[in-house]
Parts: sequence; structure tokens; C-alpha cells
Amino acid sequence: MSDTPRYRRVLLKLSGEALMGAGKFGLDPETVDQIAIDIKEVVDMGVEVCVVVGGGNIFRGLSGAAAGMERSTADYMGMLATIMNSLAMQNALEKINVPTRVQTAIRMDAVAEPYIRRRAERHMEKGRVVIFGAGTGNPYFTTDTAAALRASEMDCEVLLKGTKVDGIYSADPVKDPTATRYESLSYRQVLTEDLGVMDHSAIALTRENNIPIMVFSIYEKGSFAKAVCGQGRFTIVE
Ligand code: UDP
Repeated sequence: MSDTPRYRRVLLKLSGEALMGAGKFGLDPETVDQIAIDIKEVVDMGVEVCVVVGGGNIFRGLSGAAAGMERSTADYMGMLATIMNSLAMQNALEKINVPTRVQTAIRMDAVAEPYIRRRAERHMEKGRVVIFGAGTGNPYFTTDTAAALRASEMDCEVLLKGTKVDGIYSADPVKDPTATRYESLSYRQVLTEDLGVMDHSAIALTRENNIPIMVFSIYEKGSFAKAVCGQGRFTIVE
């Protein structure tokens, strides 16, 4: 791609659903492989990439709590789900020769490195994709907040959220054909209009640290690279 990247270091947030493809649960290997190709495209442009993966395609703490589980236990199960997704993403990236490291916020030494900010930075400087698993490591949080936190800690210039649709809409475009897409929004608008693209704590953290959020469609091939170059269809929150 002849376009020039706008950013030197970026964080990609992938929801668990993004890895599900057309399925209703778990991982779709073809979708995961395609996302890996999209990430490689950005790495090959010389951009440092780190990734936070969600777990909603496997387990969500809130659903567990609604079914009568203790909330913290359910949340820990959700965090473990993000580790499975992180390993799947790592596997797909390494198959196409993208060096990666998974770092986990909950220690599990046989599986992944513990989260160490300085080490993660070093990996990125060496061109490795760092995948942050287990969210923040704390119950009652989400992987959106983990993404905002890691983007802040890692000094990322932008947080890119890959979703099923190509930006933030005035209503759910799947359900409402009159919904319109925003080109750009302020953090305040997202909060006051409750646009639901990320939870409030994630928005508050990115606002505080001046990290713009770009929402784009991860299902559209090559759209991650385009977004990093400021092209294609997306909504930017800044
Ligand atoms: N989770 C948590 N703390 C965190 C991040 C995640 O407890 O810092 C749990 C929470 O139960 C959540 C689940 O992990 O429901 C999966 O994460 P999330 O719902 O954010 O995934 P996504 O919606 O992005 O697939």
C-alpha cells in the first residue's frame, strides 16, 4: 500500500464477537486468519501494533452473574476467555510469520508472559505484536477499559476499535435503516448521547490521555491499514 501511516504506534481492540465471524459462539478460524492478515499489513508498514482482545464470544461475566453466579467469579471466567482468544490470535499471526507475544494481566506462566509494561514496549520496538490478554486483571471491568488503559500505558497515538460496522451510528444500523454514520464525534458527545460504542470508563480514560478512538469495520478486508492511514470509512472520536 502506497499510503503513509498517520501513526507510529497503535492499539487495536478486537471484541470477542469480531472473532466469531458468522457463527454464534466461539472462534471462526477463517475470520481470525483474515484479521491476522490485516494486522500484518499494518506491521509491514512499520507501525508498532498492540492488541487487546475481548472474550464475549466465549463468556461474559454479566451473563454469568445474571444466571446466578457470583459476579467476580464470572468475570474471572470472562478474563480467561480473553486468553483463549489471545492465543488464537497469536497462532494466526505466527502462521504468517508475524512475531508476537501474549502478555497476561493474570499470571499463567506456562501459557504467556506476565504483563510488564517496559517489556511490552521493548517487544513493540522490535516489531513484535503484543497481545494483551485477561483484560485489566480485575473483575467489574471490560476489555474496552483494558484497551484504553493499555493504550495509555503504551503511549499509543490512537485506539482503533474493530467492530462489525464501519463506524458509530445514530442508532443500530442493523435494526434501523434510517441510522446515520458519524464522521467524527467528541468524547463528550459519545458520553452524553450514550452512543454505546465503548463503556464510559474507557471513554473517560482516552479523553484524559488525549487518545483518539477510531471505530471501523474489521470485517472489511484491509480496513485496518486504511484507518491507520486516515482513509476508508470510520468514525473518529477526539
Ligand atoms: N473482564 C473483566 N475485567 C476486565 C476485562 C474483562 O472482568 O478487565 C471480563 C468480563 O466478565 C467481561 C469478559 O471478561 O464480560 C469478556 O470481556 P468483554 O465483555 O470486554 O469482551 P468483548 O465484549 O470485547 O468481547
